[in-house]
Amino acid sequence: MAYIHTIAKLQNYRCCYCDNLMIRHKQTDGQSTPRDALTKDHVEPRAYGGPTQFDNIVAACCMCNNMRGEMDAVAFFNLLQKRFKRDQTLRARWHKITPQEFSTFKLQCIHVHERQLRGLAKTYVEHAIHHMIFTHRRRHQLRRA
Ligand SMILES: [Zn+2]
Repeated sequence: MAYIHTIAKLQNYRCCYCDNLMIRHKQTDGQSTPRDALTKDHVEPRAYGGPTQFDNIVAACCMCNNMRGEMDAVAFFNLLQKRFKRDQTLRARWHKITPQEFSTFKLQCIHVHERQLRGLAKTYVEHAIHHMIFTHRRRHQLRRA
């Protein structure tokens, strides 16, 4: 879609997560997307109903897009920046990391994502319980009246 280039231009063609330059590669069928390729990333993931519209799209390199998966965008950004701070060379060689480093970081992302989902589930359960208690009390009071 054309507007990804408008967004990328606003970001000076730098990935919104790792800040590395994104390249517009000519894609041939059957070829895997290079890690530094410019991709369209949904802030609220498509899997969770995030719409494909201007205010939900950022330009991200293929590497960050794959690494993030369905993780919360801000949480991913923070995790990545923390990693870059710990390893000063990591940002510069982000698109060339070893398969070992890739899996280590991907696992970490999955763990954070799972923790977030558990937190969300807990909140939903708490809300449901509060709602049940509330309606039970209300019914009880109505019956007494
Ligand atoms: Zn990136």
